[in-house]
Amino acid sequence: MTEEREFGFETRAVHAGQRPDPYTGASTTPIYQTAGFVFEDTESASAYFNLQEYGNIYSRIMNPTVAAFEERVANLENGVGGVAFASGLAAQAAVFFLLLEPGDRIAVAKALYGGSTAQLNHLARKLQIEVDWVDIDDPDGWRSAVTEETKALFAETIANPGGNVLDLEAAAAVAHEVGSPLIVDNTFATPYLCRPIDWGADIVVHSATKFIAGNGTTIAGVVVDSGRFDWSNGRFPAVADPSAAYHGLRFHETFGVYGLLMKLRAETLRDLGSSLAPFNAFLLLLGLETLTVRMDKHVASALAVAEWLREQPGVEAVRHPALPDSPYKPLVDKYLPLGAGSVFSFDLDSGREGGRRFIEALSLWSHIANVGDTKSLVIHPASTTHHQLSDDELHASGVAPGTVRLSVGLENVDDLLWDLEQALRAASSVTVIA
Ligand SMILES: *Cc1c(COP(=O)(O)O)cnc(C)c1O
Repeated sequence: MTEEREFGFETRAVHAGQRPDPYTGASTTPIYQTAGFVFEDTESASAYFNLQEYGNIYSRIMNPTVAAFEERVANLENGVGGVAFASGLAAQAAVFFLLLEPGDRIAVAKALYGGSTAQLNHLARKLQIEVDWVDIDDPDGWRSAVTEETKALFAETIANPGGNVLDLEAAAAVAHEVGSPLIVDNTFATPYLCRPIDWGADIVVHSATKFIAGNGTTIAGVVVDSGRFDWSNGRFPAVADPSAAYHGLRFHETFGVYGLLMKLRAETLRDLGSSLAPFNAFLLLLGLETLTVRMDKHVASALAVAEWLREQPGVEAVRHPALPDSPYKPLVDKYLPLGAGSVFSFDLDSGREGGRRFIEALSLWSHIANVGDTKSLVIHPASTTHHQLSDDELHASGVAPGTVRLSVGLENVDDLLWDLEQALRAASSVTVIA
Protein backbone atom coordinates (compact mmCIF):
# COMPACT_ATOMS: atom_id res chain seq x y z
CA MET A 1 0.00 0.00 0.00
CA THR A 2 1.38 3.38 -0.94
CA GLU A 3 0.48 6.29 1.29
CA GLU A 4 -1.71 9.12 0.05
CA ARG A 5 0.48 12.03 -0.87
CA GLU A 6 -0.23 15.54 -2.17
CA PHE A 7 2.25 15.95 -4.95
CA GLY A 8 4.20 19.14 -5.49
CA PHE A 9 3.69 21.51 -8.40
CA GLU A 10 6.66 20.19 -10.40
CA THR A 11 5.38 16.62 -10.11
CA ARG A 12 1.87 17.58 -11.15
CA ALA A 13 3.20 19.61 -14.10
CA VAL A 14 4.68 16.37 -15.43
CA HIS A 15 1.95 13.87 -14.47
CA ALA A 16 -1.44 15.49 -13.83
CA GLY A 17 -4.23 14.52 -16.21
CA GLN A 18 -2.28 11.68 -17.71
CA ARG A 19 -2.53 7.91 -17.39
CA PRO A 20 -0.74 5.29 -19.46
CA ASP A 21 -2.77 4.61 -22.61
CA PRO A 22 -5.10 1.70 -21.69
CA TYR A 23 -4.70 -0.02 -25.08
CA THR A 24 -1.00 0.37 -25.85
CA GLY A 25 0.65 1.32 -22.56
CA ALA A 26 2.08 4.44 -24.25
CA SER A 27 3.49 6.60 -21.46
CA THR A 28 3.07 9.86 -23.39
CA THR A 29 -0.52 10.95 -24.03
CA PRO A 30 -1.31 9.87 -27.61
CA ILE A 31 -2.59 12.38 -30.16
CA TYR A 32 -6.17 11.22 -30.67
CA GLN A 33 -6.38 12.72 -34.13
CA THR A 34 -10.00 11.83 -34.73
CA ALA A 35 -13.10 13.89 -35.40
CA GLY A 36 -15.59 11.42 -33.94
CA PHE A 37 -15.80 8.45 -31.59
CA VAL A 38 -17.69 5.19 -32.17
CA PHE A 39 -20.53 4.77 -29.66
CA GLU A 40 -20.81 1.42 -27.83
CA ASP A 41 -24.57 1.29 -28.47
CA THR A 42 -27.55 3.58 -29.02
CA GLU A 43 -28.30 3.78 -25.32
CA SER A 44 -24.89 5.17 -24.35
CA ALA A 45 -24.95 7.46 -27.40
CA SER A 46 -28.14 9.11 -26.23
CA ALA A 47 -26.88 9.28 -22.62
CA TYR A 48 -23.84 11.20 -23.91
CA PHE A 49 -25.98 13.56 -25.95
CA ASN A 50 -28.31 14.19 -23.01
CA LEU A 51 -25.31 14.83 -20.72
CA GLN A 52 -26.49 11.98 -18.46
CA GLU A 53 -23.13 10.32 -18.97
CA TYR A 54 -19.82 11.94 -19.78
CA GLY A 55 -18.26 10.48 -22.90
CA ASN A 56 -16.59 11.42 -26.15
CA ILE A 57 -18.98 12.47 -28.88
CA TYR A 58 -17.17 14.69 -31.35
CA SER A 59 -13.84 16.56 -31.14
CA ARG A 60 -15.45 19.99 -31.45
CA ILE A 61 -16.76 19.38 -27.93
CA MET A 62 -14.23 17.04 -26.32
CA ASN A 63 -11.20 14.92 -27.21
CA PRO A 64 -9.00 12.72 -24.97
CA THR A 65 -5.71 14.53 -25.79
CA VAL A 66 -7.37 17.89 -25.19
CA ALA A 67 -8.95 16.53 -21.98
CA ALA A 68 -5.52 15.55 -20.59
CA PHE A 69 -4.35 19.12 -21.17
CA GLU A 70 -7.50 20.61 -19.60
CA GLU A 71 -7.13 18.42 -16.53
CA ARG A 72 -3.44 19.24 -16.09
CA VAL A 73 -3.90 23.03 -16.30
CA ALA A 74 -6.90 22.91 -13.97
CA ASN A 75 -4.88 20.87 -11.49
CA LEU A 76 -1.98 23.32 -11.60
CA GLU A 77 -4.32 26.32 -11.16
CA ASN A 78 -6.13 24.62 -8.22
CA GLY A 79 -9.40 24.71 -10.18
CA VAL A 80 -12.07 22.02 -10.50
CA GLY A 81 -11.71 21.69 -14.26
CA GLY A 82 -11.00 23.44 -17.52
CA VAL A 83 -12.15 23.84 -21.10
CA ALA A 84 -9.55 24.39 -23.83
CA PHE A 85 -9.99 26.68 -26.80
CA ALA A 86 -8.28 27.36 -30.11
CA SER A 87 -6.70 30.56 -28.74
CA GLY A 88 -6.50 32.73 -25.66
CA LEU A 89 -8.91 35.24 -27.18
CA ALA A 90 -11.36 32.46 -28.05
CA ALA A 91 -11.24 31.26 -24.41
CA GLN A 92 -12.02 34.65 -22.89
CA ALA A 93 -14.60 35.50 -25.59
CA ALA A 94 -16.44 32.28 -24.71
CA VAL A 95 -16.62 33.30 -21.05
CA PHE A 96 -17.85 36.82 -21.85
CA PHE A 97 -20.35 35.44 -24.38
CA LEU A 98 -21.69 32.96 -21.83
CA LEU A 99 -22.01 35.30 -18.84
CA LEU A 100 -23.00 38.67 -20.28
CA GLU A 101 -26.51 39.61 -21.40
CA PRO A 102 -27.51 42.80 -23.25
CA GLY A 103 -27.56 45.71 -20.76
CA ASP A 104 -24.96 44.13 -18.47
CA ARG A 105 -21.71 45.88 -17.55
CA ILE A 106 -18.21 44.47 -17.17
CA ALA A 107 -15.42 46.23 -15.26
CA VAL A 108 -12.08 45.73 -16.99
CA ALA A 109 -8.53 46.76 -16.14
CA LYS A 110 -7.31 49.49 -18.51
CA ALA A 111 -3.84 47.99 -18.43
CA LEU A 112 -4.61 45.11 -20.76
CA TYR A 113 -3.29 43.16 -23.73
CA GLY A 114 -4.21 45.26 -26.80
CA GLY A 115 -6.07 42.36 -28.42
CA SER A 116 -8.27 42.00 -25.34
CA THR A 117 -9.12 45.72 -25.33
CA ALA A 118 -10.10 45.50 -28.99
CA GLN A 119 -12.12 42.32 -28.36
CA LEU A 120 -14.06 43.87 -25.48
CA ASN A 121 -14.85 46.99 -27.49
CA HIS A 122 -16.10 44.79 -30.32
CA LEU A 123 -18.17 42.54 -28.02
CA ALA A 124 -19.63 45.60 -26.30
CA ARG A 125 -21.07 46.76 -29.62
CA LYS A 126 -22.32 43.32 -30.66
CA LEU A 127 -23.73 42.19 -27.29
CA GLN A 128 -24.91 45.64 -26.21
CA ILE A 129 -22.95 45.56 -22.99
CA GLU A 130 -21.01 48.39 -21.37
CA VAL A 131 -17.32 48.16 -20.50
CA ASP A 132 -16.14 50.24 -17.52
CA TRP A 133 -12.38 50.71 -17.75
CA VAL A 134 -10.60 50.57 -14.42
CA ASP A 135 -7.28 52.03 -13.32
CA ILE A 136 -6.02 49.10 -11.25
CA ASP A 137 -3.22 51.21 -9.77
CA ASP A 138 -5.89 53.31 -8.02
CA PRO A 139 -6.85 51.54 -4.76
CA ASP A 140 -10.45 52.70 -5.26
CA GLY A 141 -10.45 51.88 -8.98
CA TRP A 142 -12.63 48.77 -8.87
CA ARG A 143 -15.00 50.08 -6.21
CA SER A 144 -15.77 53.27 -8.12
CA ALA A 145 -16.36 51.38 -11.40
CA VAL A 146 -18.46 48.48 -10.15
CA THR A 147 -22.27 48.79 -9.95
CA GLU A 148 -25.21 46.41 -9.50
CA GLU A 149 -25.20 45.86 -13.26
CA THR A 150 -21.55 44.77 -13.26
CA LYS A 151 -21.65 41.04 -14.04
CA ALA A 152 -17.90 40.40 -14.13
CA LEU A 153 -14.50 41.93 -13.33
CA PHE A 154 -11.62 41.17 -15.68
CA ALA A 155 -7.89 41.86 -15.36
CA GLU A 156 -4.46 40.35 -15.98
CA THR A 157 -2.24 39.14 -13.13
CA ILE A 158 0.69 40.98 -14.72
CA ALA A 159 -0.51 43.36 -17.42
CA ASN A 160 0.74 43.18 -21.00
CA PRO A 161 2.83 45.26 -21.62
CA GLY A 162 2.87 47.72 -18.67
CA GLY A 163 3.71 45.12 -16.01
CA ASN A 164 0.97 46.40 -13.67
CA VAL A 165 0.42 43.77 -11.00
CA LEU A 166 -3.17 43.14 -9.95
CA ASP A 167 -4.09 43.21 -6.26
CA LEU A 168 -6.02 39.96 -6.53
CA GLU A 169 -7.53 39.89 -3.05
CA ALA A 170 -8.77 43.48 -3.29
CA ALA A 171 -10.35 42.91 -6.73
CA ALA A 172 -11.97 39.65 -5.56
CA ALA A 173 -13.44 41.42 -2.52
CA VAL A 174 -15.14 44.06 -4.68
CA ALA A 175 -16.40 41.41 -7.13
CA HIS A 176 -17.94 39.30 -4.38
CA GLU A 177 -19.57 42.31 -2.70
CA VAL A 178 -21.81 42.70 -5.77
CA GLY A 179 -22.13 38.97 -6.40
CA SER A 180 -20.02 38.84 -9.56
CA PRO A 181 -17.03 36.71 -10.54
CA LEU A 182 -13.46 37.92 -10.82
CA ILE A 183 -11.99 36.63 -14.09
CA VAL A 184 -8.19 36.73 -14.27
CA ASP A 185 -5.99 36.37 -17.34
CA ASN A 186 -2.99 34.58 -15.83
CA THR A 187 -0.99 34.33 -19.07
CA PHE A 188 2.10 36.28 -17.96
CA ALA A 189 2.42 34.65 -14.55
CA THR A 190 1.52 31.03 -15.46
CA PRO A 191 0.20 28.81 -12.65
CA TYR A 192 3.78 28.25 -11.53
CA LEU A 193 4.34 31.88 -10.48
CA CYS A 194 0.80 32.70 -9.34
CA ARG A 195 -2.48 30.86 -8.77
CA PRO A 196 -5.19 33.55 -8.76
CA ILE A 197 -7.82 31.07 -7.50
CA ASP A 198 -5.87 30.81 -4.23
CA TRP A 199 -6.40 34.57 -3.80
CA GLY A 200 -10.12 34.66 -4.55
CA ALA A 201 -10.39 34.68 -8.36
CA ASP A 202 -13.36 32.69 -9.66
CA ILE A 203 -12.27 32.01 -13.23
CA VAL A 204 -8.78 31.93 -14.74
CA VAL A 205 -8.14 32.25 -18.47
CA HIS A 206 -4.90 31.74 -20.32
CA SER A 207 -3.35 32.38 -23.63
CA ALA A 208 -1.59 28.98 -23.57
CA THR A 209 0.17 30.23 -26.70
CA LYS A 210 2.75 31.88 -24.45
CA PHE A 211 4.70 30.23 -21.58
CA ILE A 212 2.49 27.14 -21.36
CA ALA A 213 3.33 26.08 -24.92
CA GLY A 214 6.68 27.66 -24.25
CA ASN A 215 8.36 27.24 -27.62
CA GLY A 216 6.23 29.55 -29.73
CA THR A 217 4.71 26.64 -31.65
CA THR A 218 1.01 26.80 -30.88
CA ILE A 219 -1.98 29.12 -30.60
CA ALA A 220 -4.20 27.95 -27.73
CA GLY A 221 -6.30 29.06 -24.77
CA VAL A 222 -7.98 27.58 -21.73
CA VAL A 223 -10.59 28.50 -19.12
CA VAL A 224 -10.23 27.13 -15.58
CA ASP A 225 -13.06 27.37 -13.06
CA SER A 226 -12.51 27.52 -9.29
CA GLY A 227 -15.88 25.81 -8.77
CA ARG A 228 -16.59 28.23 -5.93
CA PHE A 229 -18.82 30.86 -7.47
CA ASP A 230 -22.56 30.70 -6.69
CA TRP A 231 -24.12 30.93 -10.14
CA SER A 232 -27.57 30.60 -8.56
CA ASN A 233 -27.35 33.96 -6.76
CA GLY A 234 -30.05 35.35 -9.05
CA ARG A 235 -27.69 37.26 -11.32
CA PHE A 236 -26.63 34.58 -13.83
CA PRO A 237 -29.69 33.17 -15.61
CA ALA A 238 -27.41 31.73 -18.31
CA VAL A 239 -25.93 29.22 -15.85
CA ALA A 240 -28.79 28.86 -13.35
CA ASP A 241 -32.05 29.04 -15.34
CA PRO A 242 -33.43 26.35 -17.67
CA SER A 243 -31.49 26.52 -20.92
CA ALA A 244 -33.47 26.93 -24.11
CA ALA A 245 -30.41 25.77 -26.05
CA TYR A 246 -30.31 22.49 -24.04
CA HIS A 247 -33.92 21.31 -23.64
CA GLY A 248 -34.50 23.17 -20.36
CA LEU A 249 -31.42 21.89 -18.51
CA ARG A 250 -30.37 23.91 -15.44
CA PHE A 251 -26.59 23.68 -15.62
CA HIS A 252 -25.69 24.90 -12.14
CA GLU A 253 -28.30 22.81 -10.37
CA THR A 254 -27.51 19.69 -12.42
CA PHE A 255 -23.72 19.81 -12.46
CA GLY A 256 -22.89 21.74 -9.29
CA VAL A 257 -19.29 22.95 -9.26
CA TYR A 258 -18.98 21.85 -12.91
CA GLY A 259 -22.05 23.87 -13.98
CA LEU A 260 -20.20 26.69 -15.69
CA LEU A 261 -17.69 24.36 -17.37
CA MET A 262 -20.43 22.05 -18.68
CA LYS A 263 -22.33 25.02 -20.06
CA LEU A 264 -19.14 26.34 -21.64
CA ARG A 265 -18.45 23.00 -23.29
CA ALA A 266 -21.90 21.69 -24.17
CA GLU A 267 -23.28 25.01 -25.41
CA THR A 268 -20.69 27.73 -25.97
CA LEU A 269 -17.97 25.54 -27.46
CA ARG A 270 -20.58 23.52 -29.33
CA ASP A 271 -22.08 26.67 -30.86
CA LEU A 272 -18.99 28.84 -31.41
CA GLY A 273 -16.80 25.89 -32.44
CA SER A 274 -13.48 27.41 -31.37
CA SER A 275 -12.05 24.09 -30.19
CA LEU A 276 -8.43 23.16 -29.62
CA ALA A 277 -6.86 20.64 -32.03
CA PRO A 278 -5.54 17.39 -30.46
CA PHE A 279 -2.06 17.94 -31.89
CA ASN A 280 -1.90 21.37 -30.27
CA ALA A 281 -3.02 19.90 -26.95
CA PHE A 282 -0.16 17.40 -27.25
CA LEU A 283 2.35 20.25 -27.68
CA LEU A 284 0.85 22.05 -24.66
CA LEU A 285 1.22 18.92 -22.51
CA LEU A 286 4.90 18.78 -23.47
CA GLY A 287 5.18 22.47 -22.65
CA LEU A 288 3.70 22.06 -19.17
CA GLU A 289 6.18 19.27 -18.37
CA THR A 290 9.07 21.77 -18.56
CA LEU A 291 7.17 24.85 -17.32
CA THR A 292 8.85 25.04 -13.92
CA VAL A 293 12.45 24.83 -15.13
CA ARG A 294 11.80 27.23 -17.99
CA MET A 295 10.08 29.80 -15.77
CA ASP A 296 12.90 29.82 -13.22
CA LYS A 297 15.39 30.63 -15.99
CA HIS A 298 13.05 33.13 -17.71
CA VAL A 299 12.55 34.96 -14.40
CA ALA A 300 16.26 35.14 -13.52
CA SER A 301 17.36 36.27 -16.99
CA ALA A 302 14.62 38.89 -17.29
CA LEU A 303 15.56 40.46 -13.97
CA ALA A 304 19.24 40.50 -15.00
CA VAL A 305 18.35 42.23 -18.29
CA ALA A 306 16.10 44.75 -16.51
CA GLU A 307 18.80 45.62 -13.96
CA TRP A 308 21.36 46.06 -16.72
CA LEU A 309 19.05 48.18 -18.89
CA ARG A 310 18.34 50.74 -16.19
CA GLU A 311 22.06 51.60 -16.05
CA GLN A 312 22.29 52.27 -19.80
CA PRO A 313 22.33 55.70 -21.46
CA GLY A 314 19.37 56.29 -23.75
CA VAL A 315 17.03 54.28 -21.52
CA GLU A 316 14.46 56.48 -19.80
CA ALA A 317 12.44 54.02 -17.72
CA VAL A 318 12.47 50.28 -17.09
CA ARG A 319 9.13 48.84 -16.00
CA HIS A 320 9.92 45.47 -14.50
CA PRO A 321 7.58 44.88 -11.55
CA ALA A 322 10.18 43.00 -9.49
CA LEU A 323 12.76 45.83 -9.51
CA PRO A 324 13.24 47.07 -5.94
CA ASP A 325 11.85 50.56 -6.67
CA SER A 326 8.91 49.39 -8.77
CA PRO A 327 5.54 50.50 -7.36
CA TYR A 328 4.45 46.88 -7.83
CA LYS A 329 7.23 45.35 -5.72
CA PRO A 330 5.01 44.84 -2.64
CA LEU A 331 2.37 43.09 -4.79
CA VAL A 332 5.10 40.97 -6.42
CA ASP A 333 6.35 39.94 -2.98
CA LYS A 334 2.84 38.92 -1.99
CA TYR A 335 1.44 37.29 -5.13
CA LEU A 336 4.52 36.38 -7.18
CA PRO A 337 7.19 35.23 -4.72
CA LEU A 338 8.94 33.09 -7.35
CA GLY A 339 9.24 36.00 -9.77
CA ALA A 340 7.27 38.33 -12.01
CA GLY A 341 7.73 36.54 -15.33
CA SER A 342 9.96 37.54 -18.19
CA VAL A 343 7.98 40.10 -20.15
CA PHE A 344 8.53 43.77 -19.40
CA SER A 345 8.91 47.05 -21.18
CA PHE A 346 11.20 50.03 -21.14
CA ASP A 347 11.23 53.45 -22.79
CA LEU A 348 13.92 54.76 -25.07
CA ASP A 349 14.51 58.49 -24.77
CA SER A 350 14.79 58.62 -28.57
CA GLY A 351 11.04 58.18 -29.19
CA ARG A 352 9.36 56.47 -32.12
CA GLU A 353 12.33 56.72 -34.49
CA GLY A 354 14.70 55.48 -31.81
CA GLY A 355 12.42 52.49 -31.23
CA ARG A 356 12.48 51.66 -34.91
CA ARG A 357 16.29 51.85 -35.16
CA PHE A 358 16.72 49.85 -31.98
CA ILE A 359 14.62 46.99 -33.31
CA GLU A 360 16.31 47.04 -36.70
CA ALA A 361 19.78 46.92 -35.12
CA LEU A 362 19.09 43.82 -33.01
CA SER A 363 20.40 40.56 -34.44
CA LEU A 364 19.83 37.87 -31.80
CA TRP A 365 16.46 39.12 -30.48
CA SER A 366 13.59 38.33 -32.86
CA HIS A 367 11.15 41.04 -33.86
CA ILE A 368 7.93 39.14 -33.21
CA ALA A 369 4.36 39.79 -32.03
CA ASN A 370 4.52 37.10 -29.39
CA VAL A 371 5.85 36.52 -25.87
CA GLY A 372 6.74 33.56 -23.70
CA ASP A 373 9.05 31.76 -26.13
CA THR A 374 12.38 30.04 -25.53
CA LYS A 375 13.74 32.64 -27.96
CA SER A 376 14.11 36.25 -26.85
CA LEU A 377 11.56 38.46 -28.54
CA VAL A 378 11.16 42.19 -28.94
CA ILE A 379 8.42 44.43 -30.21
CA HIS A 380 7.57 48.12 -30.51
CA PRO A 381 3.91 48.18 -29.33
CA ALA A 382 2.98 51.61 -30.73
CA SER A 383 3.49 50.35 -34.27
CA THR A 384 2.30 46.74 -33.85
CA THR A 385 0.28 45.09 -31.03
CA HIS A 386 -1.33 48.36 -29.94
CA HIS A 387 -1.65 50.07 -33.31
CA GLN A 388 -5.45 49.69 -33.40
CA LEU A 389 -5.85 51.66 -30.16
CA SER A 390 -6.51 55.38 -30.01
CA ASP A 391 -3.86 57.62 -28.41
CA ASP A 392 -5.84 57.73 -25.16
CA GLU A 393 -6.16 53.94 -25.05
CA LEU A 394 -2.45 53.68 -25.85
CA HIS A 395 -1.49 55.82 -22.87
CA ALA A 396 -4.01 54.00 -20.66
CA SER A 397 -2.26 50.73 -21.53
CA GLY A 398 1.05 52.23 -20.41
CA VAL A 399 2.57 52.62 -23.85
CA ALA A 400 4.68 55.58 -25.04
CA PRO A 401 6.10 56.14 -28.56
CA GLY A 402 9.52 54.92 -27.43
CA THR A 403 8.23 51.94 -25.45
CA VAL A 404 9.88 48.64 -26.32
CA ARG A 405 8.57 45.33 -24.95
CA LEU A 406 10.94 42.45 -24.29
CA SER A 407 10.20 38.80 -23.72
CA VAL A 408 13.40 37.36 -22.32
CA GLY A 409 14.10 33.84 -23.54
CA LEU A 410 16.44 31.09 -22.48
CA GLU A 411 19.63 32.10 -24.31
CA ASN A 412 22.94 32.98 -22.65
CA VAL A 413 22.33 36.28 -20.83
CA ASP A 414 25.66 37.84 -21.87
CA ASP A 415 24.74 37.21 -25.51
CA LEU A 416 21.40 38.97 -24.96
CA LEU A 417 23.10 41.98 -23.32
CA TRP A 418 25.73 42.18 -26.08
CA ASP A 419 22.94 42.47 -28.67
CA LEU A 420 20.96 45.03 -26.65
CA GLU A 421 24.06 47.17 -26.16
CA GLN A 422 24.80 47.56 -29.84
CA ALA A 423 21.10 48.25 -30.58
CA LEU A 424 20.98 50.94 -27.86
CA ARG A 425 23.95 52.62 -29.56
CA ALA A 426 22.05 52.59 -32.87
CA ALA A 427 18.94 54.06 -31.20
CA SER A 428 20.83 56.85 -29.46
CA SER A 429 22.24 58.09 -32.76
CA VAL A 430 18.77 59.62 -33.31
CA THR A 431 18.54 63.31 -32.50
CA VAL A 432 15.32 64.04 -30.68
CA ILE A 433 13.87 67.47 -31.28
CA ALA A 434 11.86 68.27 -28.19
C1 LIG B 1 -1.46 36.79 -26.22
C2 LIG B 1 -2.35 37.16 -25.14
C3 LIG B 1 -3.73 36.97 -25.24
C4 LIG B 1 -4.38 36.41 -26.48
O1 LIG B 1 -4.06 35.07 -26.67
P1 LIG B 1 -4.04 34.37 -28.10
O2 LIG B 1 -3.62 32.98 -27.77
O3 LIG B 1 -3.07 35.13 -28.96
O4 LIG B 1 -5.43 34.47 -28.64
C5 LIG B 1 -4.52 37.30 -24.15
N1 LIG B 1 -3.97 37.82 -23.04
C6 LIG B 1 -2.65 38.02 -22.92
C7 LIG B 1 -2.11 38.61 -21.65
C8 LIG B 1 -1.80 37.72 -23.96
O5 LIG B 1 -0.49 37.93 -23.83
